[in-house]
Amino acid sequence: MADLNAFQSWISACSASIDDRAEDLTELDRAIGDADHGSNMKRGMSACAQLAEQEDFSSIDAYLKKVGMTLVSTVGGASGPLYGTFFLRLAGPLAASEDVGPREFGQALRAGVEGIVARGKAEAGDKTMYDALAPALEAFDEASGSGAGLGESLQAAAQAAAEGRDATEPMVARKGRASYLGERSAGHQDPGATSATVLIEAAAQTLT
Ligand code: ADP
Ligand code: MG
Ligand code: MG
Repeated sequence: MADLNAFQSWISACSASIDDRAEDLTELDRAIGDADHGSNMKRGMSACAQLAEQEDFSSIDAYLKKVGMTLVSTVGGASGPLYGTFFLRLAGPLAASEDVGPREFGQALRAGVEGIVARGKAEAGDKTMYDALAPALEAFDEASGSGAGLGESLQAAAQAAAEGRDATEPMVARKGRASYLGERSAGHQDPGATSATVLIEAAAQTLT
């Protein structure tokens, strides 16, 4: 079960991990984009990590909505509105919760991923963050459906996200900036699938 404190730890862990990986994310984006994904995410996540110090949040959903709005206003690029939508939608199914278990988190994760699709229209194999998040959601549901707790289900999700991220390497991008490169986008891991995996891995470490 995860309470507000745990969700705040998740966002802090996201920020710390993104900080560590910012240069790698930017290098991935240099190959098939415009070399800003690391700095975009670092700016956004560090603003989110400061929220807990600036304001007393009364609920998990109020906190996650603020995280979403903060990402929309600070990350920029294609990924800002997409990750912003993810966290805004994640909040919905958790509206009445003070302590989130695997069933509710699964509903929230589904809402978040569906929000990304509603906004960006990505499909499986388009070489985007969705290629990490869709398998993560599927693995989460499978684990929680067979009785795993939140932490264990998130570990399954993190492993599936990492496999999905790795699988983006040979793909030809069909969404976002990388799609301008056509066939030349193949042979590079997608930066957004990489940052999405960081977020799910951070969840597995903090939401248990
Ligand atoms: P920009 O491309 O505007 O510079 P970023 O570099 O921050 O934005 O983010 C790029 C990432 O956004 C890509 O690696 C990809 O994973 C993701 N992305 C781009 N377009 C879409 C989309 N339509 N749906 C889902 N993800 C997308
Ligand atoms: Mg970019
Ligand atoms: Mg950009």
